[in-house]
Amino acid sequence: MSEARHNWTKQEILEIYNTPLMELLYDAATIHRKNHDPNTVQVSTLLSIKTGGCPEDCGYCPQAARYHTDIKGNDLMTVPHVKAQALRARASGSSRVCMGAAWRNVKDGPEFDQVLEMVRTINKLDMEVCCTLGMITENQAKRLAEAGLYAYNHNLDTSEDYYKDVISTRAFEDRLNTIENVRKTNVTVCSGGIIGMGEKLEDRAGMLVALASLSPQPESTPINALVPVEGTPMEDIEPIAIWDMLRMVATTRIVLPETQVRLSAGRTEMSREGQAMCFFAGANSIFAGDKLLTTPNPNVNDDMEMFKLLGLNPQKPFTKVSQPKTVEASESEFQTLGEKPKWTRPGHKIERNEIAKQKVKLTD
Ligand code: SF4
Repeated sequence: MSEARHNWTKQEILEIYNTPLMELLYDAATIHRKNHDPNTVQVSTLLSIKTGGCPEDCGYCPQAARYHTDIKGNDLMTVPHVKAQALRARASGSSRVCMGAAWRNVKDGPEFDQVLEMVRTINKLDMEVCCTLGMITENQAKRLAEAGLYAYNHNLDTSEDYYKDVISTRAFEDRLNTIENVRKTNVTVCSGGIIGMGEKLEDRAGMLVALASLSPQPESTPINALVPVEGTPMEDIEPIAIWDMLRMVATTRIVLPETQVRLSAGRTEMSREGQAMCFFAGANSIFAGDKLLTTPNPNVNDDMEMFKLLGLNPQKPFTKVSQPKTVEASESEFQTLGEKPKWTRPGHKIERNEIAKQKVKLTD
């Protein structure tokens, strides 16, 4: 029986966040030990299976087509290419492959069929498969589940209040709807956010209120630090201090006791000491590989050296939830519905996003 609480208030979470640091770390580490092996950390590899050219306007993202960044876009990877990358990831200690595509939402058709085949292929390698493909319908979630998907990532990014200052091409409720569609299957949910985007502490707490209120809570919660990329609306934001990351990780651990808290983007800015403190505070998952979609990430050998130094062991696949079965495409019980769901498009103006978009016009 889960002991996770779903009725946290913003005020309660802020009080935790602002607890004197040593006390906060002790409380978080205590909860961590009750729910997880403190010496085991999950290692995931993030593969960008389709990079760039995204129609959305997420203010932090270099893959949005409207901003002037150096990202080189590519078409959807082939299944053999993905398989080769997954094998390489497994050989270097990863138990999970997360495939990311820069799409607003999934469209039924050959490209989605290709992604389903990638899911089947990786699940057959006995690795956990995660996808992050944008918004999905219930039918698409079911087809992914049938192919053997272990997790679907769909971040809330920030609080509902601040969301409007970051993205104008979709609404916070769309995120919740996709998560709800995933929850109609046995696929686990991976959902977290980004700190250091100019949000207030109340927004960090607000995001945790929203994540904690999900029932069940997400099985995985990535906590990213903004990596400001030139050409994006957030290019000039100063990177956050390690203390913010530490407090956010510890607070997440307390509020979402059973989730795997994932140290995600921004790890290159963190010292080994800083990362070690995050593991102590309850982080128990990292992304491995030189790149996180498009932003830099520590080298896998450096990570393995850090694991050795800290006495950490990589988590085995399917430790928390058993391996899903893969149903072949020819035996699928679901049809391609070709739905055209009406996801929200608020379309309000976000000044910094407009300025960044304008820069493209000036330099084109
Ligand atoms: S975060 Fe995802 S949805 Fe937003 S612009 Fe980047 S690729 Fe597109």
